[in-house]
Amino acid sequence: MAQAQKITPRAKDYSEWYNDVIMQAELADYSPVRGCMVIRPHGYRIWELMQRALDDMFRATGHQNAYFPLFIPMSFLAKEAEHVEGFAKEVALVTHTRLKATGKTGAQAVAVDPESALEEPLVVRPTSETIIYAMFAKWIQSYRDLPLLMNQWCNIVRWELRTRLFLRTTEFLWQEGHTAHATEAEAEAEARQMLAVYRQFQEEWMAMPVITGRKTDSEKFAGALRTYALEALMQDRKALQAGTSHNLGQNFARAFNVQYQTAAGGLEYVWNTSWGVTTRMIGGLVMTHSDDNGLVAPPKLAPVQVVIVPIWKSEEEKGQVLGVGGKVKDELAKAGIRVELDARDSLKPGAKYFEWEAKGVPVRLEIGPRDIAAGQVMTARRGGGKAPATLDSLTASIPGVLNEIQAALLQAAKDRTEAHSIRGATKAQFLEFMKGGGGFAYGGFCGSASCEAEIKQETAATVRVLPDPEFRSPEPPRTCMWCDKPSIAEAVWAQAY
Ligand SMILES: [Zn+2]
Repeated sequence: MAQAQKITPRAKDYSEWYNDVIMQAELADYSPVRGCMVIRPHGYRIWELMQRALDDMFRATGHQNAYFPLFIPMSFLAKEAEHVEGFAKEVALVTHTRLKATGKTGAQAVAVDPESALEEPLVVRPTSETIIYAMFAKWIQSYRDLPLLMNQWCNIVRWELRTRLFLRTTEFLWQEGHTAHATEAEAEAEARQMLAVYRQFQEEWMAMPVITGRKTDSEKFAGALRTYALEALMQDRKALQAGTSHNLGQNFARAFNVQYQTAAGGLEYVWNTSWGVTTRMIGGLVMTHSDDNGLVAPPKLAPVQVVIVPIWKSEEEKGQVLGVGGKVKDELAKAGIRVELDARDSLKPGAKYFEWEAKGVPVRLEIGPRDIAAGQVMTARRGGGKAPATLDSLTASIPGVLNEIQAALLQAAKDRTEAHSIRGATKAQFLEFMKGGGGFAYGGFCGSASCEAEIKQETAATVRVLPDPEFRSPEPPRTCMWCDKPSIAEAVWAQAY
């Protein structure tokens, strides 16, 4: 039982619980650099599985991967006025290229060599629009070069004062898609398409239901015409922005002179989009499904989908259960299942159960001498439920069990999100809702930045999205939930990460 008690219960301290789940599952750890984290193998495997699935989806929609430099000339950031304002406060700068030995000892043994100052400082990319569109200007000449559809997997740096593992760190991993199109309609279709790709991934792979929609002007990406986002509700009823897709209009094309010759011979600026999801999704996965015993990983993204725990007392039994366990492992692995056999001598079965539970393994197979005699194993699901299964039917039955678990996790997350959503709220109901723990509040919105600011001031809630049609309430709201002026759109408010 000792292992389980290392995790603070959610009801006691949600934020401590979140950190404990990550540390116990060995997903990540704090690094010697403040604000930066180390992603450990179990966490990095989740990211690799996410990458693989998303990369296939990007490829299927016509995108190619490329790689652009980590450093961006400082002057590039100044070229797009809104963009520079949005990112200026959180960039890391490289100003020198050398250290020199001082002849002293300890921390003073090296110093910055003043002779090595760069003529123009380099920004460590906070996002890559500027350097990518500078290259697009070289590569795009004619309408025949369009659309140009690219993606890069990389790290970025945005200086953060307050950090949370996976959710907010100074350096993080992401992908950033960047595209150029001949018309506004094509760019808009691309931005919407990638939002749909993200939604499909987050629901089908992460089992994390999301609301999609448009950001208000105060929440949109610096330099974008329109920003679309996916928002998921976590177990503490706070929203997590799980991805964004931007129609950048011609802002960057003008700033970087990305022009193309039309079929008729004229010269036009291209229309750009950019879209990204990050390692923050791992934080979303943790907070959507996990419980007081640790990580709950949806089977499609679980680094280990099945763990086999052999149970023995004598050496003779050990040989027998390890033999059968090894065979089951090989068969499941051959069927494409990520499986481990925990043959460690040093731990009792119960301690192994706790460890693998904390690591979020969806299915555990317990194999003891009596099970083998009966031609069966005991299957235990991470979310609860034990049942015997015949040994020779495992490769046939386990994929179905994993699918059931995947579907049940999505349904449970949907039910929880629905239970913590209110629609058509009045101002009084909204205030009570936000005070009582919050969630997604749907209501009319007049569109004014002052209403947004007042609501944020009083409740800490922001407009997460102006939801897409399928998420909207059957009756469109007539008036602003806050000020009673005519509503221009339904909005979804929540307190957010
Ligand atoms: Zn209003």
